[in-house]
Amino acid sequence: MLDVVNAGPESALIDLKSVNRSFAKANGDELVVLEKVDLTIKSGEIVGLLGRSGSGKSTLLRIIAGLVKPSSGQAACRGKPIDGPPRGIAMVFQSFALFPWLTVLENVELGLDALGVAKAEQRKRALAAIDLIGLDGFESAYPKELSGGMRQRVGFARALVVHPDLLLMDEPFSALDVLTAETLRTDIIDLWVEGRLPMESVLMVTHNIEEAVLMCDRILVFSSNPGRIASEIKVELPHPRNRLNPQFRALVDSIYARMTQRAEPRPSSVDGIPGTGVGMVLHPISTNVLAGLIEAVAAEPFYGRADLPVLADKLQMEADELFHIAEAIQLLRFGMLSEGDFLLSDAGRAFADLDTDERKRLFSQHLINYVPIISLIRRVLDERPSHSAPAARFRNELEDYMSEDYAEETLDTVVSWARYAELFAYDEMSEMFSLENPN
Ligand code: ADP
Ligand code: MG
Repeated sequence: MLDVVNAGPESALIDLKSVNRSFAKANGDELVVLEKVDLTIKSGEIVGLLGRSGSGKSTLLRIIAGLVKPSSGQAACRGKPIDGPPRGIAMVFQSFALFPWLTVLENVELGLDALGVAKAEQRKRALAAIDLIGLDGFESAYPKELSGGMRQRVGFARALVVHPDLLLMDEPFSALDVLTAETLRTDIIDLWVEGRLPMESVLMVTHNIEEAVLMCDRILVFSSNPGRIASEIKVELPHPRNRLNPQFRALVDSIYARMTQRAEPRPSSVDGIPGTGVGMVLHPISTNVLAGLIEAVAAEPFYGRADLPVLADKLQMEADELFHIAEAIQLLRFGMLSEGDFLLSDAGRAFADLDTDERKRLFSQHLINYVPIISLIRRVLDERPSHSAPAARFRNELEDYMSEDYAEETLDTVVSWARYAELFAYDEMSEMFSLENPN
């Protein structure tokens, strides 16, 4: 609990030293997911791990949970090498992972079964955990009868019931709607501050900056490709924290600024904007959403430049959702992220004023100029006499840089953007790209 003393280095709950992890890709090459990760977690703290999707956060949690082994480096729990799930670590997942055929009570008791706790004791502790997390009265309900927020509460109860030393949470609020997520966050922090949660420390993965500032004592900012800890931020604001407090805002802004710093140009990047080679993961963001954001930033009160948190608030978006969209717009050179602000480029301002057909033309120019995988596909289609090519040809190329899942996601995005721009067509049945009007 909070009053655990001896926070010296000996008492580190978790100690990772120079942990690397790679996975074999379909073609046999290595995908380096984590590189040289050092991390210490002590008693009594809530630590946040903040990073983009695909940066290796879940992999790191799974290493600590003993579910995945590091490729090299050391991972220890209370000084002992982690080799299989250590006693005293429990995990809450993003999706609820409940057994549909078990009641709430049975789902929670399950956490204790594996520990060999006697049945009567199981019941007592499960009821206490259910009560603590605000599910009193729902003991005999089945998961399908519960809202998403309540299901996630069951997930928490199941983790708490074992009285873990360390609770790992993998984006536990990200599948919930905004209000439900906020209620649950606040409930958890209140319990933590009151010292009523039966664990010593929490490690929480999130891609939501505000959530990290709201809940954590320490935030580790994770970089992508490969995942590394790029910086550490201490949050010393007292609980309950207020999102509108100027110090809270300043901290969120400064983390935004760190996360939007121009990266050093890498071989696969174009004039300093990170990762714009063929290997860039493209998240499936619809052209409607892209156009909508460009319009919103062009209009008053922003007139082309907006503070990201203010913009998120105005559009009633979660900050990280906005961040993904802004990144896609930056990639397409219709705007730029800089020091926590989002500003439109000249092309972005022009786009906002054009009619639909003109927008499509401008969009297609930018796709060709700035999205290497799209210009590659178009070039291949132009050159082939049949003006068609199988998706597998490009999927293979993408898989040299990213996992199969991300390659698939990137191709889906390519298809939807190219369709909007009328650059080329894609047939789902035959999985073939083709030129619609070859000339
Ligand atoms: P995050 O949680 O930050 O979104 P993950 O740790 O889930 O990131 O994944 C990081 C990268 O590692 C992704 O490219 C993912 O596809 C890849 N990856 C994760 N687990 C495996 C696995 N078991 N086999 C192959 N690739 C994996
Ligand atoms: Mg993850």
